[in-house]
Amino acid sequence: METLSCIIIGSGPAGYTAAIYTQRAGIETVICEGLQPGGQLTTTTTVENFPGFPEGIDANLLMENMRKQATHLGAKIWSKILVKADLETYPYILTFDDNTEVAAQTIVIATGATAKYLGLPDEKKYMGMGVSACATCDGFFYRKKTVAVVGGGDTACEEASYLATLAAKVYLIVRKPFLRASNIMQERVKNNPKIEILFETNTLGLFGDNGVEGVKLVYRKEENDERIYNLPIDGFFLAIGHKPNSELFKPWIKTDSNGYILTEGKTPKTGIPGVFAAGDVADPLYRQAIIAAASGASAGMEVEKYLAEKRF
Ligand code: NDP
Repeated sequence: METLSCIIIGSGPAGYTAAIYTQRAGIETVICEGLQPGGQLTTTTTVENFPGFPEGIDANLLMENMRKQATHLGAKIWSKILVKADLETYPYILTFDDNTEVAAQTIVIATGATAKYLGLPDEKKYMGMGVSACATCDGFFYRKKTVAVVGGGDTACEEASYLATLAAKVYLIVRKPFLRASNIMQERVKNNPKIEILFETNTLGLFGDNGVEGVKLVYRKEENDERIYNLPIDGFFLAIGHKPNSELFKPWIKTDSNGYILTEGKTPKTGIPGVFAAGDVADPLYRQAIIAAASGASAGMEVEKYLAEKRF
């Protein structure tokens, strides 16, 4: 079995940045790209809050540049998916979807987070037929149509604002009587004439013979003035948060109640020697590309320190 000095699981800003640091430290590094090469940013359009780009930068270009920087420095990219991690004995054994196994002296977990769904059977029924968790990926199909976005956070507001540039009408379905999003995003949504916010509203189901044709909603569920009604829509977008991709590591690594990996103090240390966590999988608070990149840098530096101390 091949033994790797360093393997990075995940190819978002955290993974690529960790690789840039480890390669520059002379450590041969493999990046396992995973299910979504480039990570969550590849599902968005322009990034305006990553420093160094005064007019913003196309999100896919930003990720492509990070990938090029990592490979230019010598990192190898594997288009594989990790299916099992055994951190019981050292070096750690990782198994991939093509049935290959490697032994790893150090691991950086940079697996990010995945969009959450409401859990309605109709979401599965209409998946790809009007249900989406990525407005920037699928918004194009709803030009001049009517769509609904579920959620009241920054993501929901961002998705609604983006969809409003394409669709004729956007409903924002919010379960509370207020938005949780930052003030600037709230203002943007409230001032957009194409967006109508449906506060205190929950989704009961979807209907349609040929894909989504409408959503069944309940206003003020279980209150005296409860009202159940159907709203015709063409597309239904989820924007209710994310789930960290930590499942494979949970038998060994501590997580919080939502599954975010707990790291030691301000370091990316997981408590398992030589195993570090970076990016959104360990960040329930900020979940920003720049912060993921910074934590990837810390993880890369810790890998270097660990291998030097082990004298590999
Ligand atoms: P949040 O957790 O902030 O918001 C999730 C939203 O979905 C809330 O309004 C929540 O409602 C609602 N929700 C959750 N579960 C359900 C459900 N079952 N049914 C109906 N509604 C539900 O997630 P976001 O993805 O919006 O944001 C995550 C983090 O990323 C935040 O810190 C945010 O600030 C940040 N972010 C920053 C951006 C930027 O700076 N450009 C862009 C996007 C995100 P409730 O309020 O009732 O709990």
